[in-house]
Amino acid sequence: MSFKNTFEKYDWDTLEKEIYKVTAKDVEKVLLKEKIKLEDFKTLISPAAKPYIEQMAQRSNAITKKRFGNTIQMYIPMYLSNECQNICTYCGFSMDNGIRRKTLSDAEILKEVEHIKKLGYDHILLVTGEANKTVGVSYIKHAIDLIRSQFSNISIEVQPLDQEDYETLITSGLYAVLVYQETYHKATYKTHHPKGRKSNFDYRLDTPDRLGKAGIHKIGLGALFGLEDWRVDSFYTALHLKYLQKTYWKTKYSISFPRLRPHQGGLAPKVEMTDTDLVQLICAYRLLDEDVELSLSTRESEIFRNHSIHLGITSISAESKTNPGGYSVEPESLEQFEISDERTTEQIKHMIQSQGYEVVWKDWSKSYVNLSST
Ligand code: SF4
Repeated sequence: MSFKNTFEKYDWDTLEKEIYKVTAKDVEKVLLKEKIKLEDFKTLISPAAKPYIEQMAQRSNAITKKRFGNTIQMYIPMYLSNECQNICTYCGFSMDNGIRRKTLSDAEILKEVEHIKKLGYDHILLVTGEANKTVGVSYIKHAIDLIRSQFSNISIEVQPLDQEDYETLITSGLYAVLVYQETYHKATYKTHHPKGRKSNFDYRLDTPDRLGKAGIHKIGLGALFGLEDWRVDSFYTALHLKYLQKTYWKTKYSISFPRLRPHQGGLAPKVEMTDTDLVQLICAYRLLDEDVELSLSTRESEIFRNHSIHLGITSISAESKTNPGGYSVEPESLEQFEISDERTTEQIKHMIQSQGYEVVWKDWSKSYVNLSST
């Protein structure tokens, strides 16, 4: 059994119809409820809920403060490689893009880390493309071993792996894995992932199951907004989240909200998601789930990120570089996508503090693992 069994009980077109036929009355009824369920989430992300965003935002803010306090967690991505054997129509690292490929050596990884540590980070997200010969499990494990002593929290966003591979990496100190389905629309997924291992929709769909079975501490989910209707994709993401929480209840979860950003040979979004839509979605997630971490990257604009911390967002990145060696080794190499918020870590820190929030650099210690097993 895996999420695939649950996924197959739902039909995209039926869900779409259900979401678009919601009325203002339905929304008002849901907003009176104390406990928001998955069915209610459908109502809250509907077009009919748009006039109620302010009400949703206030409730989302109150829940988030009660559960997380006035805190925002900071993390930074470090791209280790832009080599990739997949073709993804929306990505600058796609195999068919004629860019110079680069994978960081040990010395280069340590140089990047030296730069990142000076900025104050203790949570790091390692990112690679999918090239199993050069950046396979042994490369990722080696990179984690190399930097483990310098970070209390190491996450990865790499190709989906087998359960045993995740077990190996967890033993090395891996804390979390982000694996976005991109879109839950099977046919559209195929269009955007025509070649390479990533074209296997089912293997990707069941990746969080393999992570849960491997005993990972945290799984990050999400869809790439722009490929399909964001409302239906978000319903499936929420369905996935609820299934995982029930099945792997010891694991923590986070949701991210990537919207398509410009890149070399760029793809225009099929379905536009406006800033208002994104606010609505963030609030709907928080109303559905008090505990899930909601994360916002530098893909979003300064203004949007400034406001987002009152909406339910609990972690953000800053000063991100989306190219391998982008911090100090090769700042000029090609990025995976252009970031939107280019402020420094220091500027983001002040923005957060000026709004009465505390910046959290570290909320996890490897010693917790030992404590929980005693
Ligand atoms: S999205 Fe990931 S798998 Fe697809 S081309 Fe880009 S780096 Fe490769």
